[in-house]
Amino acid sequence: MSTAGTARVEAVVDLDAIRHNVRHLAGLAAGAATMAVVKADGYGHGAVDVARAALDAGATWLGVCTVEEAGELRDAGITAPVLSWLHVPDEDLAPAVGRQVDLGVASRRDLAAAVTAAHATGRPARVHLKIDTGLSRNGCPPADWGDLLDAVADHPGEVEPVAVWTHLAHADAPAHPTIDRQAARFDEAHAAASARLDRPLLAHLANSAATLTRPDLHRDLVRPGIAVYGLDPTDDGVAPALRPAMTFRSRVALLKTVAAGEGVSYGHIWTTPTDRTLALVPAGYADGVPRLLGAAGRLEVAIGGVRRPVVGRVCMDQVMVDLGPAGEPHGVAEGDEVVLFGPDDGGPTAAEWAGLLGTIHYEIVTGVGGRPRVRRS
Ligand code: PLP
Repeated sequence: MSTAGTARVEAVVDLDAIRHNVRHLAGLAAGAATMAVVKADGYGHGAVDVARAALDAGATWLGVCTVEEAGELRDAGITAPVLSWLHVPDEDLAPAVGRQVDLGVASRRDLAAAVTAAHATGRPARVHLKIDTGLSRNGCPPADWGDLLDAVADHPGEVEPVAVWTHLAHADAPAHPTIDRQAARFDEAHAAASARLDRPLLAHLANSAATLTRPDLHRDLVRPGIAVYGLDPTDDGVAPALRPAMTFRSRVALLKTVAAGEGVSYGHIWTTPTDRTLALVPAGYADGVPRLLGAAGRLEVAIGGVRRPVVGRVCMDQVMVDLGPAGEPHGVAEGDEVVLFGPDDGGPTAAEWAGLLGTIHYEIVTGVGGRPRVRRS
């Protein structure tokens, strides 16, 4: 990957890695279609670029959470099928239906919004009916499934049912007993829907972990997200072939000598044991370096392929890195590239950051990009 550039801090995304990962996943699920999940700005990697790369590499569907995210893909000229799955009360779904975006429908309320959008646009709303098989999030409870199917059947011409789908609670633990229980409930719901609506319906329930570890659950379509970005969804190293796509990097902005016994950064949680050479790296929590990593005291960065410890608190825009006793050679110059995390140059991985924080790498990479739009009132 090119390291050219003068950015203060940037996330560099290797689209070849995205293509490689999607080819790998699509190959594993060769009997199914692949929906690359690009919600939350492509898990912080850039939804449009990731979507294009994924489609190049064999994905034929794209999955997003919101109608706005689907709209961004359409604005970019992407015409592939897109499923958008989480909608708020009274949301206007007409822009989605008008742009041939499929909608997740989990309730009569969702269905009513889809029907309204069909009237507004003059075209049927394509819907994927979501059954809650045990995640207890959005999804129609099994007790209400028959009622939802009746309601769908009452709207021929306005609503076009495309699929039945669900989401797994424990896919990252492939032998977990709830997986088979969810799959059995799913198959029952799918069979009931096919019979009641009298048409073939796609079936989909496999996220990355299930795509990688449970070929029996691939059904008609798989919905990998995190694995598209090269990150292993389990703790078991089930995905050695994946290539992490994001390198989060910065540059050395300043080298300085700090005398022994001085406190470094806010709150002086670290004090120089001897005269030290420190490097200022201009990346902080406003850029996606969690402040808690500084408190954990084990955060490292890589400069010239060598791991170096971050010392003191992570600030809003900067961290300090210890290069060792003052006067000793360290081989670091101002302007040098610093790998915060990524596959490149010996840097820590996003999974290592997650481990230090007791979280998952999903949160780390989406924290670098981020979704919320700021609206001033
Ligand atoms: N399907 C749904 C409904 C999701 O919400 C997600 C992500 O949370 C995915 C698929 C992709 O999951 P993963 O990133 O674990 O592959």
